[in-house]
Amino acid sequence: MENINRTHSCGALTGKEAGNPAVLMGWVSRRRDHGHLIFVDVRDREGITQVVFDAEHNAELQHAAKDLRSEFVIAVRGTVRARGGAKNPNLRTGEIEVVAEQLWILSEAKTTPFVIEDDTNASEDLRLKYRYLDLRRPKLQETFRLRHKITMAIRSYMDEQGFWEVETPILTKSTPEGARDYLVPSRLYHGSFYALPQSPQLFKQILMVSGFEKYFQIVRCFRDEDLRADRQPEFTQVDIEVSFPTRDTFFSLIEGLVAAVYGLKGIEIPRPLSRMNWDEAMQRYGSDKPDTRFEVFLQDFTDIFKAADASVFRELAESGQSVRGLVAPNVSYSRKQLDDLNAYVKQIGGAGVAWIKIAEDGINASPVVKNAGQATVDAVIQKSGARKGDNVFLMAGQRDNVLDLMGALRLELARREKWIPEGKWNMFWVVDFPLLEFDANENRWVSRHHPFTAPMDEDVDLIETDPGRVRAKAYDLVLNGTEIGGGSVRIHRSDVQARIFKRLGFTEEEAREKFGFFLEALEYGTPPHGGIALGLERMVMILAGQSSLRDVIAFPKTARAMDMMSGSPSAVTDQQLLELGLSKRKD
Ligand code: ASP
Repeated sequence: MENINRTHSCGALTGKEAGNPAVLMGWVSRRRDHGHLIFVDVRDREGITQVVFDAEHNAELQHAAKDLRSEFVIAVRGTVRARGGAKNPNLRTGEIEVVAEQLWILSEAKTTPFVIEDDTNASEDLRLKYRYLDLRRPKLQETFRLRHKITMAIRSYMDEQGFWEVETPILTKSTPEGARDYLVPSRLYHGSFYALPQSPQLFKQILMVSGFEKYFQIVRCFRDEDLRADRQPEFTQVDIEVSFPTRDTFFSLIEGLVAAVYGLKGIEIPRPLSRMNWDEAMQRYGSDKPDTRFEVFLQDFTDIFKAADASVFRELAESGQSVRGLVAPNVSYSRKQLDDLNAYVKQIGGAGVAWIKIAEDGINASPVVKNAGQATVDAVIQKSGARKGDNVFLMAGQRDNVLDLMGALRLELARREKWIPEGKWNMFWVVDFPLLEFDANENRWVSRHHPFTAPMDEDVDLIETDPGRVRAKAYDLVLNGTEIGGGSVRIHRSDVQARIFKRLGFTEEEAREKFGFFLEALEYGTPPHGGIALGLERMVMILAGQSSLRDVIAFPKTARAMDMMSGSPSAVTDQQLLELGLSKRKD
């Protein structure tokens, strides 16, 4: 066996090689037995080639081929020939087949728990348990080829721009990024723990103090959160930090990076990207990551209801709450469909949705709107710009809450009504976020990004007096309604950093205890600096046309944070617990 050289991959041979010898190695993808002719599709990561075992050509070999089963690993030596009638246009190697002259079975395979093909109906749990088989599916192999190309493109772009790739620790001290830490108990210091990094935030800033100026890393981050389809406990970020940036040069650097990445799939990113103010994003789209692929906007109807004759909406508007709505063009829902939409709104935490239906045969409205009087209904229709055949939807409540709910309703209607066109790539920056938000549960101000984000210079003095109005030098990169990255200019002065910690409710001792090393570092000459982190998997997912992060991570966890293949997390021995000081010896 050692003497056989594989001459071609299973995706390489075309009509040009007809008549040439070839040695292929790969997995049996399919075997079709036509009596004296046996066809075997051999698969490797580059493609599939049809191999023919012909009894007239070599009876003994044709007989041996009867033993081949799916997923056996084989080597075949043979001659390439142009296919007769049945060329396969769907296959790169569809013009040819290889007539087998020698066959080696390199390893046999048990019957696999599911068939290895793109269109599988095997459950995801089963596929994750046998992830090594799942990964053989051509679509997944293409996805990982793309992921590799993307990381290579990122590395070469960052290198060209003068960045150094620097690794930062995995066993570290926790950084407050807002999620729960994964902790690792220390064997040498019982009762003390390392934290797995939620991101390398403090280290990359410290590298700026060290004078590295331009840092990047394709880095694993860990967050112990309740998982959703678009989250994984460990994921990869393209992490970047720069010293002495201006906003325009920094944005154009990142735009160049995403252009290089999306260019791999022929997607052109218009540069410079546009920028949308956070307030506009919330007011018009009810989201800080607006999907701008369809033109339905939220509108403010509070004033109209304030002037209404009566109605619950009037009372709400008068008590300082907000009434927001949108026009759903060409949407004429039946009572059942309206009830259904109302149920959706309740399910996401809203009180319900009111409506005005502008039908051919007249205007109809839900009772809360009707009660406000005809003049109000007319005023809403006029302001909204709704036309015959449209439906206006309205909600009332506390401003931010209503904006969130209307934003969700806008997306839900888009999904139901198929408003989102294929093939659009709407990428832009969202800027001017608020620095802080009030956490009612904790009864204190918390950072929207992280506590190292710089406030706008003109807002610094509001930190103590009006924290809700302090805007941040923060930015998110949004694509088709998904946040693909976020970052900020950092605080580079220890006095401002101390004021922020105080505002967040840390005592001086707590701040010293948690980030003392970092605050001290800032005192030794810190350049102005800023950075960003882009979610690698989200980019791969979008470009690969996959719908789940699990499809772009080689060994992902389930929604319950389990690795089905290796069975982790799992119990450890008493001895290990003892060493870590996590259990006491039973005497
Ligand atoms: N560390 C931040 C994050 O993971 C990104 C940044 O501010 O650079 O979201």
